[in-house]
Amino acid sequence: MAFPKYIFAPIQVSWRETADLVIPWRHSPYVHRHRAALIISRIQVIAAIFAILIPLWIIVDALAFDRWVWTSIAPLRLASAGICLALAWPRQIADPRPAAVIMLVCLLLMPPLFYLISVPIIAQASANGLSGFVRNLYEFLPYTVVAGLSIFPLTALEVAACWLVVFLAMLGGQVYLHTENWASLVGPMWLLLLIGGTAMVSGMSQLQYMIALVRRVTFDALTGALTRRAGMELLEGQFRHCLRNELPLTLAFIDVDRFKQINDSFGHDAGDQMLRHVASQLLKGLRQGDALIRWGGEEFLVVLSGTDREGARLVVGRLGKLGFGARPDGQVVTVCIGLSERLADGARDVNEMIETADRRMYEAKIAGRNRAVFGQGDVMVGVVGSDEVTRSRTASAEVSP
Ligand code: GH3
Ligand code: MG
Ligand code: MG
Repeated sequence: MAFPKYIFAPIQVSWRETADLVIPWRHSPYVHRHRAALIISRIQVIAAIFAILIPLWIIVDALAFDRWVWTSIAPLRLASAGICLALAWPRQIADPRPAAVIMLVCLLLMPPLFYLISVPIIAQASANGLSGFVRNLYEFLPYTVVAGLSIFPLTALEVAACWLVVFLAMLGGQVYLHTENWASLVGPMWLLLLIGGTAMVSGMSQLQYMIALVRRVTFDALTGALTRRAGMELLEGQFRHCLRNELPLTLAFIDVDRFKQINDSFGHDAGDQMLRHVASQLLKGLRQGDALIRWGGEEFLVVLSGTDREGARLVVGRLGKLGFGARPDGQVVTVCIGLSERLADGARDVNEMIETADRRMYEAKIAGRNRAVFGQGDVMVGVVGSDEVTRSRTASAEVSP
């Protein structure tokens, strides 16, 4: 029997995608970043609401409980409100991934700890009248935490870990309250399990939706290269990294030669097919750490992190050897490449690098196409279709835009 491709055929969730919904460490950096940013924004909203509600509840405690009980719980409430306020405080977060983990752990650990500390105090309160009613409400605290998990795009393992923490806290509290009556624990634990299961399904479906959206905004549907928006984000990150570590960074602006003719003579589908092939050849020729961005139409940007001009020349040579296939009329597909290197060109930011690479790509067009312009008079003529690549150094190679 063939191994089924989908686990849930009606909604087409593959085994790979299911694993992404269960295990947190399999996601791409793009999903990680977006998920972390979403988690932080939701934590901040909830924390802001709790920062108001938690201290306000002191009034309810004061009306319901004896003075000793409510004054013992009030400092706990004020401390929790302080933590919520700190979590909700608007701030600039450079790296959302570690921040999201720390903030989520703080938010989720707070109620179980509050519960564990308050159980022995609440147990002293009268079980009758308003005091009894409010006392019962405190027992619902663990359920609220588990139910609250459902608003976050979490994997099954993450929800299970949070659930376990709440379960242990609740077990501690329940054991304290019902030591002689173990059977009474079955109901609350069953309810906790049900709410935990619901939170898990909710978290996973939110995550699935988010992964699909991130994939759409990150990868170009036609070529599989990074979209301009995602590519720009990556490029800015790589620029900062190379600047911090004093590393070279090369950018190659690639434009397919006379591409419009393909569309005009053979139709848009033939053009699309060619673009797909160009992108797949580019991806084939790049290393794991390099990135391919579809900058627009038939223009691509290649990000070569940690690569200087000499290294870039090897990459361009390799790409030229691989080639980009043939046009429908049998002619080889050629490209123009403009390169810029952070250190050699003294670029201050990403936009400067892009402008330089774009300008050099146009120099390659003007000079006759099928060539790569590296700057400072360094030109590789006949990138595609010639084993002997000519390198010329001419003083006039730099053309103003
Ligand atoms: P040059 O050698 O000077 O670069 O000439 P060119 O014809 O390649 O340049 P131009 O920028 O004039 O043409 C780009 C064309 O790419 C125009 C546009 O219709 C086409 N194009 C842009 N995006 C797509 C796409 O997704 N699919 C197809 N089939 N064509 C596209
Ligand atoms: Mg173009
Ligand atoms: Mg072109």
